Amino acid sequence: MTSDSLTSLAAEILACRRCPRLVEWREEAAANPPARFAGEEYWARPLPGFGNPKARVMVVGLAPAAHGGNRTGRLFTGDRSGDFLFASLHRTGFANRATSLAINDGLALTDLYLTAVVRCAPPGNRPLPRERAGCLPYLVRELDLLTNVRVVVALGSFAWDGAIRTMRDLGYRTAPRPAFGHLAESRIGPFVLVGSYHPSQQNTFTGRLTPPMLDAVMDRARELADLDRQRAPPRPKKPLGLVWLRLADAPPGGAGAASAGSLVDLDQCLATKPAQDQPDGLVADPWEGSSNILDPEDDRGVVKNVLPYSLLLR
Ligand code: SF4
Repeated sequence: MTSDSLTSLAAEILACRRCPRLVEWREEAAANPPARFAGEEYWARPLPGFGNPKARVMVVGLAPAAHGGNRTGRLFTGDRSGDFLFASLHRTGFANRATSLAINDGLALTDLYLTAVVRCAPPGNRPLPRERAGCLPYLVRELDLLTNVRVVVALGSFAWDGAIRTMRDLGYRTAPRPAFGHLAESRIGPFVLVGSYHPSQQNTFTGRLTPPMLDAVMDRARELADLDRQRAPPRPKKPLGLVWLRLADAPPGGAGAASAGSLVDLDQCLATKPAQDQPDGLVADPWEGSSNILDPEDDRGVVKNVLPYSLLLR
């Protein structure tokens, strides 16, 4: 079922033409390749993620390269960033090959799924904010479908930011926003987000990112995934949260009037609960105990069940 859903998501991504600038750029790169790729048939379409659907580790990049993934049809395949990344994935036991040259090269990923925030090659490797916003729902759905993922490795600050937005859109509390850094770690809901400098030539040629540095990130990801397998309960498909509401302030008819399926404005819920009666924040994260609260700035919840003085949300 998971594979089928990932398959249908991939089909949607492959057909996407939502960003006119990026559609033009991916096709322009195919029409005018550099001399070393002259005569090759380019993919020139968006790229879905790939790897093991049961993976516990997800690696998120920025976007395909115009003459890398946009040429070969697979992320990080056929470019220098991919050479650097897959050599590390092979050394750390996540890939059966140290190279990623073509879509039919026999590469297989173990316990790892590789994806990107933006699915089409952007000019100068810089997507616009509206392009990132337009593409992000694909990553949200992808992470939602990859139910075994516990560790998300973000390659670069753009991917770090995209991963945080993805987890926020899945309903997990992301405030205060963790700062990006190489080997930075942050627990968000059931995930551990791990930062790495991006394996771009700009970083690898200058020594800002070395092979041992990237290996350290992937080794840490494996360590975290193994720890989580021992300790964490299975990840529910969606986060559940409790929002507390005084019956007197509930809609006419009491809290029961807020029936399953209705939308609740968390700002209102926060406002209606007397401070002295509030629990230690609103319970929103069954994995982290009761210390986290849903972010009232941008969250609304859908009522799943109605309990005295509380609404069970999902
Ligand atoms: S970047 Fe994403 S949203 Fe934009 S056209 Fe490509 S697949 Fe569609």
